[in-house]
Amino acid sequence: MKIAVLKEGGAETRVAAIPETVKKFIGLGATVSVERGAGERASISDVDFEAAGASVGPRAEVLKDADVILCVTGPDPASLNGAREGALLTGALDPAKRSDDIAAYAKQGLEALAMEWMPRITRAQSMDILSSQSNLAGYKAVVDAASVYGRAFPMMMTAAGTVSPAKVFVMGVGVAGLQAIATARRLGAQVSATDVRSATREQIQSLGAKPIFVEGVAGIEGEGQGGYASETSPEYQAAQAELVSCHIAKQDIVITTALIPGRPAPRLISDAQLATMRPGSVIVDLAAEAGGNVEGCVAGEAVVRNGVTVIGAVQLARTLAADSSALFARNLANFLTAFWDKEKGAAVLPDHDEIVAAIRLTRNGAVVHERLKTAQ
Ligand code: NAD
Repeated sequence: MKIAVLKEGGAETRVAAIPETVKKFIGLGATVSVERGAGERASISDVDFEAAGASVGPRAEVLKDADVILCVTGPDPASLNGAREGALLTGALDPAKRSDDIAAYAKQGLEALAMEWMPRITRAQSMDILSSQSNLAGYKAVVDAASVYGRAFPMMMTAAGTVSPAKVFVMGVGVAGLQAIATARRLGAQVSATDVRSATREQIQSLGAKPIFVEGVAGIEGEGQGGYASETSPEYQAAQAELVSCHIAKQDIVITTALIPGRPAPRLISDAQLATMRPGSVIVDLAAEAGGNVEGCVAGEAVVRNGVTVIGAVQLARTLAADSSALFARNLANFLTAFWDKEKGAAVLPDHDEIVAAIRLTRNGAVVHERLKTAQ
């Protein structure tokens, strides 16, 4: 079995394998071929990959006879010409936005596997790229906010007087939100947080932050469907808006992370609410690409509204390429290892498996995923 690792294009800084996972694949009996320069932006040299046992070469050579093609983002189908029929193209293929490219992969005979559609089951936790990348994004959101904020995070008692601690409010306590709370606490801020899922209340408290929840109107009991939130009732939304209005004026930093799968991000902060914050405050909107939780947020830009800097954060994991590549690469390696058939010396993906059914987009020349077939 030959595993190919592609060099990413465009703004992507990550790479889908690291020397550690190369060694793991070789230990399973596979050969690994890495496209020249693939790890450069993640501080991994070609020599590092070679030392781990991989061969390094141009794309055509790497793709030739490969059984598995590892990537971070979905490559341009034209750049995969020459790949073997039936090869497993594995990465964050973004099927919801790239249906034409997915259809092209099918035509090329590739078996495309969308790792972002990994089901949220215990067995799949170590293969979950959304969690591993969100974790780093939650951390970086706080660090970015701290670097823009013109004041300090921790309380400091100095001979020249006392510096008050920053007040940080985290809205949406999933994977990114939890890491944002933990990071802000480590920096010495006073942290509060909110979510629609009632199960997060205890998680917030366990990190030493204050839960701010809508009382008297039902949100989402427990974890929510598959861990995800759904849209809340208009009554809940009105109560939440009032709660935010009361709380936000006293906050210095707000990190918003709220997402609802398959829908635009919920609007959590209006312009009028933002205007009540003191000048110099900072909001980092991690939902910017999904439309934003904050009114007026622009994805990929920092805009100043009423003296408050609103950062439309996009793909923050890319700014920590070495760590995000390592976690991403391990997610892919954990996936392939879990399906490795020792006798065949290859990854075997059974049709009836819950993970395979959730992530397999194309097979035998056709688009096979239900979510894409109904969209066609
Ligand atoms: P997400 O990125 O989909 O959403 C971020 C957060 O925003 C969620 O906590 C959500 O409840 C919250 N939110 C949505 N609408 C909101 C609103 N109007 N106001 C306030 N908050 C709102 O979530 P996520 O980070 O992917 O994780 C969600 C849950 O899934 C977590 O409990 C996580 O531990 C769990 N999870 C489980 C697995 C697994 O078991 N394999 C993998 C990943 C995540």
